Amino acid sequence: MIENANNAINKVVIVGGGTAGWMTAAALSEVLSNTGCEITLIESEQIGTVGVGEATLPHLRFFNQRLGIDEPEFMRAVNATYKLGIEFANWGQKGDSYIHPFGDFGKPQNNIAFHHYWVKSHLHGNKTPIGDFSLPVVASQQAKFDFPAQDLNSLLSTFSFAYHIDAGLYAKYLREYSEQRGVTRKEGKVIGVNQDAETGFITSVEIDDGTQIEGQLFIDCSGFRGLLIEQALETGYEDWQHWLPCDRAVAIPCAANPNQASIPYTRATADEAGWRWRIPLQHRVGNGHVYCSDFMSDEQAERTLRTNLEGEPERDANFLRFTTGRRKKMWNKNCVAIGLSAGFLEPLESTGIHLIQLAIMKLIEFFPDQSIDPAFSDEFNRVMQMEIERIKDFLILHYNATERDDTEFWNYVRTMSLPDELQRKMELFERTGHVVKYQEGLFLEPSWIAVYLGQRKIPRAYDPRLDALSIDQLDAQLEKLKQSIVRAVNGMPSHSQAIKQIGDPA
Ligand code: FAD
Repeated sequence: MIENANNAINKVVIVGGGTAGWMTAAALSEVLSNTGCEITLIESEQIGTVGVGEATLPHLRFFNQRLGIDEPEFMRAVNATYKLGIEFANWGQKGDSYIHPFGDFGKPQNNIAFHHYWVKSHLHGNKTPIGDFSLPVVASQQAKFDFPAQDLNSLLSTFSFAYHIDAGLYAKYLREYSEQRGVTRKEGKVIGVNQDAETGFITSVEIDDGTQIEGQLFIDCSGFRGLLIEQALETGYEDWQHWLPCDRAVAIPCAANPNQASIPYTRATADEAGWRWRIPLQHRVGNGHVYCSDFMSDEQAERTLRTNLEGEPERDANFLRFTTGRRKKMWNKNCVAIGLSAGFLEPLESTGIHLIQLAIMKLIEFFPDQSIDPAFSDEFNRVMQMEIERIKDFLILHYNATERDDTEFWNYVRTMSLPDELQRKMELFERTGHVVKYQEGLFLEPSWIAVYLGQRKIPRAYDPRLDALSIDQLDAQLEKLKQSIVRAVNGMPSHSQAIKQIGDPA
């Protein structure tokens, strides 16, 4: 028997027009284009958006490709630069620095991961940083950029790339895209949410001009306030502040210095009670300070940020407050929370926009009919919970894998108790050099390796199969690899040249 004939959803309402709202509108307008489904997005200029969120992950390229967006046009529209990874400074110890690249270390050999070779060599006294064996790390250090090669035998195929973008301009770009595909934008403030008395499903929202907007599926992209998912549906929030205690941020963008070489990576510099970001766009540099209010005042956080600015501030300081954690159900009844309304993890690994993209893709995969079978929402919630939990553990690693003991904040995060799964992972690595592998989850082996080794977590052992290789043979192989990476990077254009290639901003 066909269960869902003629029961298709024909009215979707999106509340919120930040990055989450417009990414959702754009993707749904594309995939629902032939179904007759009406999409309405409500946003309030008076309330505005969170106004941060500039560093992305490589997956955004595939989102744009799926929407048929032309890359150079997009880059001009959002003043983008290329991103090969993130530099972490002062994390393991003050003065340390490493790059978490979008790519591999070395090349896989005989099914033994490259880092085991490095660990053996390191334990025998070779102090060459593992970054010297990663093409995207060396390219970042030399401010070079090129597109990855298709030939999998080439070292130039061992990396990927993302963008630094002006997220406000990206939302504007996607608004145009969505409106051209029939999305209706409604300006106004949502002041009421109506629910079915029996099921609790949302039936309509009321805007401050008195209009009622009805729908069958509601997407809550209203930001931290979680207007539908929390204020109306009271879904609940799991608080992770005991593991990720930073709860505030202050942001001050600066004008870009046209005489300074443009770098293809984000910078995350650990500070006394948190860390500072630096994100280079074409026209400006995004700067911010994420900190923990138990250990640092707002005034001190702003002062530290200003002291470290490298250009003229473009705007006043923008202060933000948040509670790290996740909504207990991101999909509850006929409401799906996407973006900040679904939860918050600090932007240390640029995962905010990625989680938005993932939620949109999962919603498309499990797009329901009007009955909203809980089988869809259960699977959506399971996948999203697993993804955000694993990202959470990866972020905790950055704080816990440290030798810093110079402030109360670092003493707390270095000695705090860890989630069980992370504790197990870290022990396995320390004792065997192996990284726990999963089929699903955002951060794969090279990412864990970058942080462990970059933050002084050197394992006591390596894959025993490498005992057959003499240390002289091993060091000779490593040196050869290092030199081939140097040669490959020497042949790449500078990042500034690559940016010039895309043409002037729109
Ligand atoms: P918002 O931008 O807050 O948008 C909410 C929308 O809802 C707005 O349009 C608002 O007007 C509307 N709204 C709210 N209430 C109402 C109402 N009553 N009626 C009508 N409309 C309403 N992510 C990354 O990927 N990379 C980064 O580098 C990064 N850096 C970050 C730094 C900080 C300090 C923070 C806090 C976040 C960062 N993020 C980053 C996360 C990223 O900013 C967000 O994921 C992204 O901006 C999505 O926000 P949003 O659309 O969910 O919410």
